[in-house]
Amino acid sequence: MSRERLKTMIDDARRVAIFTGAGISTESGIPDFRSPGGVWSRMSPIYFQEFVSSEAKRREAWERAFAGRAGWTGREPNAGHYACARLVASSKSRAVITQNVDNLHHLAGVPTDQVIELHGNASYARCLDCGLRHELADLKALYKATGDLPCCRACGGIVKTATISFGQAMPEGPMARARDEALACDLFLVLGSSLVVFPAAGFPLLAKDNGAQLAIVNREPTEQDVIADLVLHDEIGPVMSEVVPAN
Ligand code: ZN
Repeated sequence: MSRERLKTMIDDARRVAIFTGAGISTESGIPDFRSPGGVWSRMSPIYFQEFVSSEAKRREAWERAFAGRAGWTGREPNAGHYACARLVASSKSRAVITQNVDNLHHLAGVPTDQVIELHGNASYARCLDCGLRHELADLKALYKATGDLPCCRACGGIVKTATISFGQAMPEGPMARARDEALACDLFLVLGSSLVVFPAAGFPLLAKDNGAQLAIVNREPTEQDVIADLVLHDEIGPVMSEVVPAN
């Protein structure tokens, strides 16, 4: 059956590039933001330019973030995340490329420098001017006490959650690293992405064009099923627990 085929493909691969999307985290209870009932059907996104130029929009964004309204944080990793962590620990994979901002690959034990986040991370914040990291709990406590919008404790600059917002450029470093991973692998493994959002969805195409095999595990059909070497329309946690078993 197909799970056995996927296990063979992983076992035979020299290097597996893992690419994850919302579908791996829905099994942890995090809503897929594009689905009905997802985040952007409940509230409109705040564009980066609005955040930077409007104090009212910054206040709205921080009120949302402090209330956890997007539902992106505060969940636990599931079997799919732990299987990815085992692939990295075994050196079969050098990194996990993710479209998710939920910090669950880190929490599952993948070292921080081996998680390539294409859309940033919602579990902390950074200064837009100097890049200094700020913890949400600290910012929230100060905001609750003073009502003042978060600003950088080092330079006074505007602080924003470390996500890539609508209207914000894709991060150059992670994009370059993801490209390197796509070109270095001989198996590109997609877990829980419908592969509709570019440029991220270009990485499996790049790997495939470069001679790698492409395997996709996703509950629904994806845009790239037709070119994949293996497609499983299935739950990620159960599949990955079986093909990358814990010792
Ligand atoms: Zn700063």
